[in-house]
Amino acid sequence: MAMSRKNFLKILGLGFLSTGAGKGLSKPAASLEKAKAEASKLKITGVDIYAFDIPLIEPFKISIGTVYAANDVLVMIHTDAGVVGLGEACPFAPITGETQEMNLAAAKGLREIVLGKSPLAIESLVHGFGPFLHSNPSAVAAFDTALYDILGKVAGLPLYRLFGGDKPSFGTDITTDLDEPEKMAAKAAEFVGRGFDTIKIKVGQGQEIDLRRLEAIRQAIGYERKIRIDANQGWTPPLAIDTLKKMEKFQVQFVEQPVLASDLAGLKAVHAASPIPVMADEALFYPADALKLIKAEACAYFNIKLMKAGGLLNMMKIAHLADAANMLCMVGCMIDSRLGLTAAAHVVASNRNIVFADLDGHNSHTIDPVVGGMLFEKGQITVPELPGIGADVDPAFLKKLKKI
Ligand SMILES: [Mg+2]
Repeated sequence: MAMSRKNFLKILGLGFLSTGAGKGLSKPAASLEKAKAEASKLKITGVDIYAFDIPLIEPFKISIGTVYAANDVLVMIHTDAGVVGLGEACPFAPITGETQEMNLAAAKGLREIVLGKSPLAIESLVHGFGPFLHSNPSAVAAFDTALYDILGKVAGLPLYRLFGGDKPSFGTDITTDLDEPEKMAAKAAEFVGRGFDTIKIKVGQGQEIDLRRLEAIRQAIGYERKIRIDANQGWTPPLAIDTLKKMEKFQVQFVEQPVLASDLAGLKAVHAASPIPVMADEALFYPADALKLIKAEACAYFNIKLMKAGGLLNMMKIAHLADAANMLCMVGCMIDSRLGLTAAAHVVASNRNIVFADLDGHNSHTIDPVVGGMLFEKGQITVPELPGIGADVDPAFLKKLKKI
């Protein structure tokens, strides 16, 4: 179903945009008028909502919970011009407290907001999603993403180009979830064998076993590769400070969310005392959280996620707030398919202060139902040069999904 830019423009009647810069510029006024007229006609005519279930190779375990499948929601926004936008919600209960059932119910409410509206009025539509944001950020993310997908397709540009980005290819880590230290070390070695040079390690269960995890992994992969760790709120502030001091010798790039998301003072205390830089993750969902963390000087880095922020617009806002504060960011994920991951990857490709990426959610999936989309190879991600997100769901897989 992946479609070329030319075909999209043909469908839209915007083929004049594909005639090349030289020709297009000869009559700028006429072209702009036509583009404006075409764009103003666009209306949302329907929204398909699907339960989008993807089994995992094995349960994914972090310090605050275990998930057994990616029970996601797929949203397809239809327009009268025939352009369709896709978005994914990946509700990850241990982090956002959402379930698939909640997201499906919220999606029905969000559908009512967008029906009959212009898909290009993203600013006001996303503003209208506000009441759903705190209880269902992932459902909101699916709608926001689908709108941007339409915008990119109408413009005939990949999202990262629409955002003015210029790094379609960048490095990503790959994650070892919680397990016995030896098993995590074997997994890390396997990842290094696949070409990854940065390994993210889940910790946060207790000092003794967490230290053994890092020791086993460094023994298995040496010190040439980078490691970063994620405690997922598993430590108290004093335990975090003590443990991070003892972990310094393992050369850790940064630690994600060492303490409870709600403990801003604790995060700030760990950030001030830790020899390893601290990244806020669960403490950061929305732009307002970013502002609070910046004001409190509570961390060194941000981990921005599509499913926490509630879409690409909020992700961009957080990245811009961080940039204004001269802070670097990572873009992370839940256990999204390559649809959500590719949408998030466009944000990395568009912001120079997003220098870390953790976009490996699909690595735990038994199947990849996405066609097109980002390439994920040897620790490098490359976003597609296709209009919009540039990812689609395999029609054969879509046929099997239950429409709500
Ligand atoms: Mg994290």
